[in-house]
Amino acid sequence: MSSEGTAHLRQSDAGFLIRGKYVLTASEPEMISDGAVRVVSDTIADIGSFDDLSSRFPSCPVLGGSNDIVTPGFINTHGHFSEALVTGIAENFALGDWLRVLIDAVAPHLNRESAFIGTLLGGVQMLRTGITLTNDMFVCDPRTTSVTPGVVQGLEELGLKGIVSYGASDRRPGTPVEDVFAEHAALCEAAAASTLCRFRVGMATVAAQAPSMFARSVDFASLNADGIHIHLHETREEIEFIRESRHMSPIAYCAQNGLFALPTLAAHCVWLEDTDIRLLASHGVGVAYNPVSNMILASGVCPVSRLRGSGINVGLGVDGPASNDRQDMLEAIKTGVLLQRLDQLDPAALTAREAFRMATIEGAAALHLETAVGSLEPGKAADLVVFDGGSPALANVHDPFQAIVYCAGPREVKDVWVAGRRRVADGELMGVDVPALVSESRKLANRLARRAGLGELSLLATSN
Ligand SMILES: [Zn+2]
Repeated sequence: MSSEGTAHLRQSDAGFLIRGKYVLTASEPEMISDGAVRVVSDTIADIGSFDDLSSRFPSCPVLGGSNDIVTPGFINTHGHFSEALVTGIAENFALGDWLRVLIDAVAPHLNRESAFIGTLLGGVQMLRTGITLTNDMFVCDPRTTSVTPGVVQGLEELGLKGIVSYGASDRRPGTPVEDVFAEHAALCEAAAASTLCRFRVGMATVAAQAPSMFARSVDFASLNADGIHIHLHETREEIEFIRESRHMSPIAYCAQNGLFALPTLAAHCVWLEDTDIRLLASHGVGVAYNPVSNMILASGVCPVSRLRGSGINVGLGVDGPASNDRQDMLEAIKTGVLLQRLDQLDPAALTAREAFRMATIEGAAALHLETAVGSLEPGKAADLVVFDGGSPALANVHDPFQAIVYCAGPREVKDVWVAGRRRVADGELMGVDVPALVSESRKLANRLARRAGLGELSLLATSN
């Protein structure tokens, strides 16, 4: 169907139906066979059997198909559009050296244009793997002209929902702190003008902010933001550094200094004492599990079972394109299951059903957005994915949860709706000239690699 057709459908009073052989709700009941979802404008109006809904609303156009699988849109709980132009480079470093040779080198050279194009490039990949909301932290040096509103501009262009933040740091000597807060303010203002974006205060890490800046960030967030987005306990080195300098774990420091009084999403949480887990649980902190990134950087394995067993909401994240070069939620979901099984030497360590919930409603809860998104229920946002039941990979579905987690890849993502707007149709992005975007991004990536001096790491830079 054309975009004009979709626009017409959205204007119908009764809306339209999205049909599937299996509708996986991430709610109760968890699955409806031969089901359908009725969408009116940007909201789910009904969910039930296809026969019932099609007889009650005979004028509604029907999308999806009788062999397809319908799911909620996936919630990506952690990412960095700031890395979209530096994929497939610097592979053999652990976090500390990787930050030094790649991220710190790139950070001074990102600008509004690279934020916009990088968001488009990363966002296209996300939509094609069923992500409808992404929690982003853009990491760049503060500049006199704000950079991060380019992320909001990109998300608006794509029609992809975002929780946007600026990964602030005064770690480098001479960082102009006023410019850091001007960047937060500019992003906050851009998000406020967007129907798709919400603003959080980003903190690269506890170690990346002096105590005075940390305190000011908490104050700024309490006045201006929906919450906090921070990396916590990703590596042992991070914890040792804070224990030596502030005499407690980073998690304890956050709890003691008011950060956890705000809705907080903590990325990684790999190395945890029981006391840390108790603090996360008692403060309702959500955790982003990023299995592919954790494996690429050899950081360690997030103790997902311990966290979830303590009542902590754990979502899945693809992380940034520099530490997980492929922005593929389906890869993250499957890898997330496999890594837990291998780590625990237990084939039941994490099930497909559990991983599906983590990618949908539990990710939404980790971001304190579970009343608005993350499941297929009347009144919730019409963020949905249709998986192609005609694809060979989904020809024989014995358990639709296992089919999504183990069998499906981006090729099986047929249609994606965000807030009732069809953003992917028959596997193609709507309203985005992807070849032109790729061409444009290539020029920017070449320039960025040269300016950042990535020559020793990058064949791309040395050949241009
Ligand atoms: Zn990250």
